Order: sequence, then C-alpha cells, then structure tokens
Amino acid sequence: MITFYPGPSKVYPDVADYAAEAVRSGVVSLNHRSAGFMDIVRETARLLHEKLAIPADYHIALVSSATECWEIVAQSLTIQTTLHPTTGAFGEKWREYAHRIRPFNAGNTDILCVVQNETSNGTQVSHQQLAKWRQEVPPNWLIAVDAVSSMAGIALDWQQADVWFASVQKCFGLPAGLAVLIYSPRALERAITIGERDHYNSLLFMYENFSKFQTPYTPNGLGIYCLMRVLQRVPPIADVDARTRERAASWYTFFEQEVAHLPFQLLVNDPVMRSDTVIALEGSEDAIKALKATAQQAGITLGNGYGKWKETTFRIANFPAITDEEIEALKAFFRTANL
Ligand SMILES: *Cc1c(COP(=O)(O)O)cnc(C)c1O
Repeated sequence: MITFYPGPSKVYPDVADYAAEAVRSGVVSLNHRSAGFMDIVRETARLLHEKLAIPADYHIALVSSATECWEIVAQSLTIQTTLHPTTGAFGEKWREYAHRIRPFNAGNTDILCVVQNETSNGTQVSHQQLAKWRQEVPPNWLIAVDAVSSMAGIALDWQQADVWFASVQKCFGLPAGLAVLIYSPRALERAITIGERDHYNSLLFMYENFSKFQTPYTPNGLGIYCLMRVLQRVPPIADVDARTRERAASWYTFFEQEVAHLPFQLLVNDPVMRSDTVIALEGSEDAIKALKATAQQAGITLGNGYGKWKETTFRIANFPAITDEEIEALKAFFRTANL
C-alpha cells in the first residue's frame, strides 16, 4: 500500500530499524534525567538547528502534539488575547482552543496566530505575507506560526515569527506523539514577563528543563530517538525545499494540463496560495467517492477531505518521505484510471 495521506502520513521505512535499535540498545529504558538520555536530547536539538537552519538564539522544546503547542501559546505567551487570520479548519480549531483559555476581546490582542500551511484545504501563507505581517503588527505583539504540515518540508523564514511548531507525523516522516516547539528570545522574554507556572507544560518549566536537556515529564523517548536518527540522514533544508517545490510545481502542472479531463480540479485557484506540501482537489461527491475506491483497489491511499471539504475534496501529501517511484505510480494511476 502506498499512502499519500497528509497526516498521519508515510513514515520513513528506516524508522522500523531505528525503533528496533532504540529497544535493543536500551535507549527506551533510560531514565530521562540520565546522561545517556540527555545526550540524545542535546543531539536532537543540535540537529534540528543544523538541518532546519534554525537561528542559534532560537530555543527548542519537545512536546507531545501541535494541539499542545496551541495551548502553550495561549497559557504561557498570551497576555490578553490572540488574533487568528484563518483560511481553514486547523486555523479555526486553534482559534477556538486559544479563546477558551484567553477569551477574545477586540482591541487587546498581543499575538498574531498564523497557520502557515492549512492542511485542511491545501493553502499556504507565503513568506512575503508573513514578512508583511511582521512589519505591520504593533512592535509589542508576538507572531506564532503553526507549521505542522510544512516544517521539514520547505524552508521557513524563522525571523518572521517568534514561535514555530510542528508535530512530527507530517513532513518529518515519523509516527505521531511528538512535536517540536521553537521560540525566539523575544518569546522567552514574554514568558518571563507573564511568569505563568500553573501547568505541567508551562513554557518556563519547559525552558528550564530543556536548558539541562531534560523535560518536565517523562518524554516520548522512542519518538525523540527516531527523530534524532531521521535528522541525521535528511539533507539540509535548502535541498529538501528545492525538491518539495519542484515536486509541487510538477503536481500542479500535471492536474492543470496533463489530466485536465479527469472529473476534479485543483481546489485552490490562486497559485500564490497553493500549498507546496498538500495538494487539494475538488469534485462531486460521487466522483471523489469513486476515485478513492478505485485508488484503494490499485493499492494507493489518497487523503480524505477535511472539515467542510470532507466529501467533495481529496488531498495528496507532498512530503519528503514519499519517493519519486511512489509519485510516478500515482501519476500513472491518474493517467490510466477510468474515472
Ligand atoms: C495535523 C495538524 C495539526 C494537529 O496536530 P496534532 O499533532 O494532532 O496536534 C495542527 N495544525 C495543522 C496545520 C495540522 O496539519
């Protein structure tokens, strides 16, 4: 079975070996305050900085999910409330979670919350748009970015925001249950000013623990070990970025030109807004249902639609763990399928 599901998505096949290694070598049984475990956390943070080209002064914390990061931003970094320019279901969910913790009151915003890549409908916020917001928002605001389905798939312009996060079951090509939270010195200053220490995952606890390469609670050691091993082998982000964009451009041309006769079209019309990592296509409910069943018979899993596009769209992940051969197989399927 080949999967193009945009999360949980295809994991690198080598993760099976890394997991076996972690069990056999006893890594998963190490006390998380032991020197051996701290070395793994230190090396993982170093590799994240190196491979993803994260600025040296940006801090890293490892948590459980992107949803947890939404709550950390609300509880530890928001003074009054957050503003969410949303284009889809994940952005709306984030706003809901955030405003439950810091109720919305217009005029008192201090964080702009952006979903860089809206997995639900295959749109993305461009580097230019993010840079524009960075210029336009009042200087005392922070910018927080959900980059769950783009981090490790495309290069991100880290300086344009103070907080970035992603769970690893998308572009990192790993099993779910771990997320990377990256934050600027300015975000740390904000956390110190607020001084919030009411939760097990308060950012200040995270910061203090991570300064010693520890975590406040027993972490997902297996996930961290596998993340470290995957990071050791992935190319620098500039190379990954070039390949992802090339593949995305090829997918968009393919659907616009080569298989334009098929009974579905690209969901996003504006090329500037089209995601590089999640391609969304739209058709009638019947056409989509038939397509997914035919693909399944051919051994290919396509991503279902999400939220309000559940029945009338499907999605194709363009994540680094997917091979050229798999992409060719899916293209061949579309060329020959009788839909
Ligand atoms: C998948 C996804 C999430 C949720 O991630 P979890 O790890 O399940 O919390 C959040 N935002 C976006 C954009 C996503 O694609």
